[in-house]
Amino acid sequence: MRHRTATRHRTAGLATLVAAGALALTACGSDDDDTDTGSDTGSTAGTTAAAGDFPAGSTMAELADAGTITIGTKFDQPLFGLVGPDGVPEGFDVEIAKLIAGELGIPEDGIEWVETISANREPFIESGQVDIVVATYTINDARKEIVSFAGPYYEAGQSILTLATNEDIQGPDDLAGTTVCTVSGSTPEANLLAEFPDTEVVSFGAYSDCLDPLRNGQVDAISTDNVILAGFAADDPTFEVRGEPFTEEPYGIGLALDDTDFRMWINDVLEASFADGSWVEAWEATAGTVLPTPEPPTIDRY
Ligand code: GLU
Repeated sequence: MRHRTATRHRTAGLATLVAAGALALTACGSDDDDTDTGSDTGSTAGTTAAAGDFPAGSTMAELADAGTITIGTKFDQPLFGLVGPDGVPEGFDVEIAKLIAGELGIPEDGIEWVETISANREPFIESGQVDIVVATYTINDARKEIVSFAGPYYEAGQSILTLATNEDIQGPDDLAGTTVCTVSGSTPEANLLAEFPDTEVVSFGAYSDCLDPLRNGQVDAISTDNVILAGFAADDPTFEVRGEPFTEEPYGIGLALDDTDFRMWINDVLEASFADGSWVEAWEATAGTVLPTPEPPTIDRY
């Protein structure tokens, strides 16, 4: 089963996004340690890279030679991976993916974006339907049995979204006796089922499927990563994120289980982006329009 809901979205919206992010950064007078003064977006995208720059037979050489890469991301999550009316995915995950493609010498129009929902990320990597997944994808030991992960490139945590008018749910301790919407195959779903026995868990395919049930009172809350919920709350002020994150969700880039060279190379690309300002620039242009700028995490070269 190929779950290709879209093919070859051009990413022409980047300039607008980045301009907006740069403005936001200036306007906020952020004092974060952004040492990237005056670099232009995509400056680290090594569009001069060629297959010969990589070890023969490596995934990097194959992708650079092909000039294309297929990348799984979310299509319904504001700030991280969202396809708008123009059909172009935007968000922090999308920018991280573009950084990696750029270092392979693959331009934005060489990226084939494929929608991955929470439950199909491992199968899509295993079957080769995607080369990598950048999709709010938590690194954990169970998944590491099936795929491998570069990163982390961000650290999120599970949280709760309710209607702003609901005063009864202020944090995870208030979920007993409530009905909570989440997504099949996600770590928040697994955590709710394991740790919240008195909560009724309703699981859909994608987080956006939970929005109308929350609006119309069919569920009391949505639970997933704080940053996904923050994107929904930013889009709709009738929603509010409640309480502090109560799990650790380090986001990794999923790739084939045994491709250690590719994993280590992506780790190098991520570390370079942490150091040269392109990671913080990607953040400020996307999720950073709503969320504070974090310190880059420490890469786990397991
Ligand atoms: N980060 C969690 C996970 O990978 C929740 C977000 C998602 O489902 O994409 O399961």
